[in-house]
Amino acid sequence: MLSIVAITFVTELLIMQGMSYLGHEYPLASMFTDAILLAVIIAPPIYWLVLIPIHKEYQKRLLAEGEAAEMSRIAITDPLTRIMNRRGITVGLLDAMAQAERYRTPLTVGMVDIDHFKEVNDTHGHKAGDRVLKDIAALLSDALRMPDKVGRYGGEEFLVILPHTNLAQARKITDRIRASVSKWDFDLGDKKKIRLTISIGVTQFKSGEDLEQFLAQADKALYDAKKGGRNQVVARKAR
Ligand code: GH3
Ligand code: MG
Ligand code: MG
Repeated sequence: MLSIVAITFVTELLIMQGMSYLGHEYPLASMFTDAILLAVIIAPPIYWLVLIPIHKEYQKRLLAEGEAAEMSRIAITDPLTRIMNRRGITVGLLDAMAQAERYRTPLTVGMVDIDHFKEVNDTHGHKAGDRVLKDIAALLSDALRMPDKVGRYGGEEFLVILPHTNLAQARKITDRIRASVSKWDFDLGDKKKIRLTISIGVTQFKSGEDLEQFLAQADKALYDAKKGGRNQVVARKAR
């Protein structure tokens, strides 16, 4: 507000100065008081009519931008586990594939599936099952580092993306995760704790492959891990 008064004051002073040059006699003292008076009269309408609406519009835009960002975050987040949902992790995978293709760097994925998870629901209830899903998501997230990514791909299936990682390295990383899950005491509430295992199918991206072909290989590896007795990692070599 004060700055508006000051600006108006200076502008008016300049105008009056100009007028006095054009022949209108103006004593300096009255020029000053007139300028102050005018500034004080003009400043409030400028403030209310121009600055406040501009400020309100700016705040509205900030809010809209924030809401849009929040909406897109929600659209790719799984509400139960708080990690990326299928849509989010798929976008992450497409991005990783494009990078691997462009820079010719290795890329592997691990399809993770909880073993006999139906039994957890059947024995302890759906709520207990949900707690397990949250814990598994947290264990997977904690085990990974940038630029690795993890998302909930399906009901009790998770997809792990390991950029700059070849099949042998991916097998080691995912087997470490598998071992730590098998030793974890899952808290079901009411002082009930259980142990469970996961199976992981790992495969390396082959140049020229599309998303479906790549994931189909991971699914096959996972199927082999289940068939092989569960609680294991099966790495499928490049085709
Ligand atoms: P397998 O070792 O062959 O993977 O056996 P499984 O029992 O884990 O596999 P199956 O596909 O038979 O069962 C998956 C179960 O996962 C069934 C379904 O009710 C449960 N499930 C899927 N999504 C959720 C969820 O959001 N919450 C809970 N509690 N259970 C879920
Ligand atoms: Mg499954
Ligand atoms: Mg399962």
